[in-house]
Amino acid sequence: MMILDGKVIANSIYEQLRCEVEYLRQQGVVPHIALLLVGDNPASLTYVRAKSRACERVGIRSTVLHLPAETSEEEVLWHIQQWNVDPTVHGILVQLPLPTHIDSERVILSIDPLKDVDGFHPVNIGRMLIGLPSFVPCTPAGIIELLRRYDVSVRGKHVVVVGRSLIVGKPVANLLLQKAPWADAIVTVCHSATANLRQYTRSADVLIVAVGRAEFITADDVREGAVVIDVGINRVPDDTSPNGYRIVGDVAFASVAPKVSAITPVPGGVGPMTIAMLLRNTVNAANGQAWRKHLFQ
Ligand code: NDP
Repeated sequence: MMILDGKVIANSIYEQLRCEVEYLRQQGVVPHIALLLVGDNPASLTYVRAKSRACERVGIRSTVLHLPAETSEEEVLWHIQQWNVDPTVHGILVQLPLPTHIDSERVILSIDPLKDVDGFHPVNIGRMLIGLPSFVPCTPAGIIELLRRYDVSVRGKHVVVVGRSLIVGKPVANLLLQKAPWADAIVTVCHSATANLRQYTRSADVLIVAVGRAEFITADDVREGAVVIDVGINRVPDDTSPNGYRIVGDVAFASVAPKVSAITPVPGGVGPMTIAMLLRNTVNAANGQAWRKHLFQ
């Protein structure tokens, strides 16, 4: 069984990005991402800090704007508009979820698609679906990059995606359907209305799980020798941990790992790859190559 180590791969991507950023800086371009956080959701705070720290590691400038939970939608839109027109800002990221009084769709629509390094703007989603150059959402991009770097081909294979969110399930399923050397898969997407989920998951050559339920997929749900990608990040109470919780995935790692040919750990699998792809998108944006044809080469 092989561990698909997202940390190791992310580190090698950072090395490459560091060189690219150094070159850009020598040309007078300082890659710069603006991160917007509204409110004090603890998980969101952790994610924004992690993204900002990763930027520092490779020399990307990051500006974090942390606004109080009661900030109005108009104020959020105003800040985004400032960044849209600021030529020193190459990427804009709004940490989701936003407080409920703010319309997330309206906020995402307000981001200049050429600075939409999260790849959530409908223009980028539409371009991705058609197969045009676009910003690709970071988690799906990270999954594909991880498979590619470990030489796990999905071509002609049955990939089952559990979860159909706009940030993971739907985009990863669509990407894997593309007619491309790194894709060409036969894709099934399952969700909460899927009766007899196991019937699908057990037929998967590659199983991608993005449900958001701790250890939801067990050994009986997977086929012997399958490749398992666990996207889930769930906090479960743990008295032995200093912060009172530990992070587990959507897959029961200990029982599933011995049965499969390859699996991502949580933490240390898809999470670090997601951040690496955010940095990749930001450097592409700074390069003036926001919409690059082949993200996966
Ligand atoms: P969402 O809550 O947006 O989507 C969950 C999906 O799971 C939905 O499509 C839902 O179906 C489906 N689902 C729920 N219950 C079942 C069930 N019993 N059987 C089958 N499908 C089910 O979650 P996200 O996609 O945003 O995130 C999923 C997980 O991935 C979370 O743990 C999140 O923290 C993590 N995550 C990790 C990232 C990383 O970098 N590693 C990045 C983003 C997310 P329906 O549509 O019918 O409701």
